[in-house]
Amino acid sequence: MAEEEVGEPKTFADLGVCKELVEACESLGWKTPSKIQVESIPYALQGRDVIGLAQTGSGKTGAFALPILQALLAKPEALFACVLSPTRELAIQIAEQFEALGSGIGVKCSVLVGGVDMMQQATSLGKRPHIVVATPGRLLDHLSNTKGFSFRTLKYLVLDEADRLLNMDFEKAIDDILKVIPKERRTYLFSATMTKKVGKLQRACLRNPVKIEAASKYSTVDTLKQQFCLVPAKYKDCYLVYILTEMSGSTTMVFTRTCEATRLLSLILRNLGLKAIPISGQMSQAKRLGALNMFKAGECNILICTDVASRGLDIPSVDLVINYDIPTNSKDYIHRVGRTARAGRSGFAVSIVNQYEVEWYLQIEQLIGKKLPEYPAEEAQVLILFERVSEAKRISQMKIKEGPRNKKRRNAEADDEDAEVYAFNRKNTKTSKKFKRR
Ligand code: AMP
Repeated sequence: MAEEEVGEPKTFADLGVCKELVEACESLGWKTPSKIQVESIPYALQGRDVIGLAQTGSGKTGAFALPILQALLAKPEALFACVLSPTRELAIQIAEQFEALGSGIGVKCSVLVGGVDMMQQATSLGKRPHIVVATPGRLLDHLSNTKGFSFRTLKYLVLDEADRLLNMDFEKAIDDILKVIPKERRTYLFSATMTKKVGKLQRACLRNPVKIEAASKYSTVDTLKQQFCLVPAKYKDCYLVYILTEMSGSTTMVFTRTCEATRLLSLILRNLGLKAIPISGQMSQAKRLGALNMFKAGECNILICTDVASRGLDIPSVDLVINYDIPTNSKDYIHRVGRTARAGRSGFAVSIVNQYEVEWYLQIEQLIGKKLPEYPAEEAQVLILFERVSEAKRISQMKIKEGPRNKKRRNAEADDEDAEVYAFNRKNTKTSKKFKRR
């Protein structure tokens, strides 16, 4: 967690959390509550609506899950709470935290996200889960089409990463959901930033909420070392490879602007013998999960991702974040670099800036209120790599042009990440089964 634990009270029990859940926290290794938990749980337990301004890594999931589970424990009921999340991966992680915290009290969760069979999800709803974690579009689909499913008994609604929900054009879907759920309910809204749209949503669906700000406005943590590297556009790949080899062995996330770039970069790096894997919104659900699990399991130490992966994903220990493309929205920078230097650990973030991105980079420096030092790289040394990197790029571009392989050939291609993800998914059927069950 990025937040410091400050102030009294210091234990979950002090916050009013019941014995069963204190034990659940202990079994997850949560010794003391995080700042957002300290500040929001007592109000939530009093039955107040809560707006929490907190980022991923602050312990926000626990901040809303514990009060909900405590209320559920007092009055167990099916379809008790619904959590809306902007992405499939975040939805799965939230459900995993609910299940982990609620394992001792037999909590059942359903995850309703796109890219997974509706029928399977309908079957899971038929088992009357206590908690539904969903992306708004798929939830609406079920509310309209799945027989016998409604939220008439719903007591809690959580809007997680509300700023992101709204940026992703879920506004209309959320409005429609709000129309069909009970007005008599508790609502928790969590957001990394307070935008105009979030303010509007807050007014539309929260009642006399308490507002809790656990992160200072756009700051980055002190344990994070941040640098930039100004490079000519044509040498960008070269600098990326140079930094990765200088920091070889580090668990790294490389951020690009487009889905296509994740695939190309990953092929280039793999061609050069680096263990890279892409994750982007264009991949199938199974491939995204497979890639994420390979990264978490350490089978690949470099995750190439778009901003889809920059928020919400709970990847505990990233040593290095590289901004291969500078984000045009400065706030995305905060979210990206927030993947490292978590839970008091140190971390490193390097932004590779080309001549066309200087403007965006300066906006970032303005937002974080700091001038960052330059990454020490000798151009002559970096350019030794140029020929090899260019060749790897040429081969990778050709591979992409060839298009998707047939299944037989895919399985035979040892160096293709498709095949690796496929094999990893098969080996780890536990994950996919668990996912299918929902
Ligand atoms: P979140 O901000 O909800 O994504 O949580 C980030 C990570 O912090 C997750 O891996 C949680 O399991 C972990 N976490 C949440 N609350 C605590 C706590 N009080 N103590 C230690 N770890 C925690």
